Amino acid sequence: MMTIAKNSVVVLDYELKVDGQVVDSSAGHEPLAFIHGTGALIPGFSSALDGLKSGDKKSFVVSPEDGYGILDQEALRKYDINDFPGDVDLTPGAQLFFETEDQMEIPCFIKEVNGNEVTIDFNHPLAGKELHFNVEIREVRPATEEEKAHGHVHGAHGHHH
Ligand code: ZN
Repeated sequence: MMTIAKNSVVVLDYELKVDGQVVDSSAGHEPLAFIHGTGALIPGFSSALDGLKSGDKKSFVVSPEDGYGILDQEALRKYDINDFPGDVDLTPGAQLFFETEDQMEIPCFIKEVNGNEVTIDFNHPLAGKELHFNVEIREVRPATEEEKAHGHVHGAHGHHH
């Protein structure tokens, strides 16, 4: 039976818990389908799958360094409340998109509001967190040449085109 290696197509169900809470899961959705080893997934998740085969279940923990990164204090930036349009939700935890000079939209979060000072957090929301994964492998097969060229999976759980 084929085991997961570089350029395997992997179809799996997963659950992600952070601080004891389920924050993401394929339950009730399509399973996750991807080409292994293309760098599309966080490194700690990808490396934990090496050598698994269809039917295998695995629980593992990914450290922040191998997940969404450690918390960067320099990614906390302060702005004046008057710099925000009146209709922006400034509740701590609310997500905003910060537009850069070259029109890129960067997701960020309200950290806190202190008088006229608004602290915005540009860290990924899961930065600094240990990620607790449960996975169940549904399918492992070699990627076709076309899938490798496109960089994504075709067929039942992948792209239709
Ligand atoms: Zn394609």
